[in-house]
Amino acid sequence: MRFDVLTLFPDMFEGVLAHSILKRAQAAGQLEVHLHDIRTYSTDKHHTVDDTPYGGGAGMVLKVDVLAAALDAIQAQPEVSQIPKECRRSILMCPQGTTFTQPLAQKAAEDYDQITLICGHYEGYDERIRSLVDSEVSIGNYVLTGGELPAMILIDAITRLKPEVLAEGSPEEESFSIFDENGTPLVEYPHYTRPLEFRGEKVPDVLTSGHHAEIKKWRLEQAKLRTTKLNESPLSHI
Ligand code: SAM
Repeated sequence: MRFDVLTLFPDMFEGVLAHSILKRAQAAGQLEVHLHDIRTYSTDKHHTVDDTPYGGGAGMVLKVDVLAAALDAIQAQPEVSQIPKECRRSILMCPQGTTFTQPLAQKAAEDYDQITLICGHYEGYDERIRSLVDSEVSIGNYVLTGGELPAMILIDAITRLKPEVLAEGSPEEESFSIFDENGTPLVEYPHYTRPLEFRGEKVPDVLTSGHHAEIKKWRLEQAKLRTTKLNESPLSHI
């Protein structure tokens, strides 16, 4: 899997890529992340990447000509252009996009070998960038200072679903990948490990019973209970 990231702050990605599963995936040749500084694609002597909005208002807007030059340059790279077009995708990180979910991560992991992620900053982008990308994705209904954290979230969530990236087992039994009888996605059931008792709280007896069918039933019940609770009065959860 190859990601090309267009950003004004490439250094922000260092920590995330240098640890754990993403580090291992890169070492194993399963993941490549190419960071492109948007400023490199500006042609004026001040390397201008943004400008004030027509019509007035606060904030600066990323210039479409600079972003277009960057997108064209990425697609022209031989390592990218040799990947079949239908296996490549360009995604604009923006609060106005489709909300990122586990099914979208799953689809991206199955369908694409190369994804270009565009990270905005300041007020956002010149609207005309939208006609140059394949899709627009938000990580949720809140506003962050830049698209770098959202891009890292996509890289992480998609990469771990690629075959063989998760050495310690398949992600099939995880939150949003388990379903009730009606096909509604559920969050995962509770896990416990030693000690058997901690500050008066005991591990549920069923988990130490050795009864696999009972354990399976209990886990499904717990997953349903947790999912129901999660959907009740969400404002009280923070
Ligand atoms: N003015 C924009 C608005 O009201 O929708 C917000 C711009 S935000 C401060 C700057 C950049 O951060 C965006 O262009 C986008 O790349 C990124 N960003 C912020 N929140 C995001 C979210 N929830 N999902 C994806 N990207 C986001």
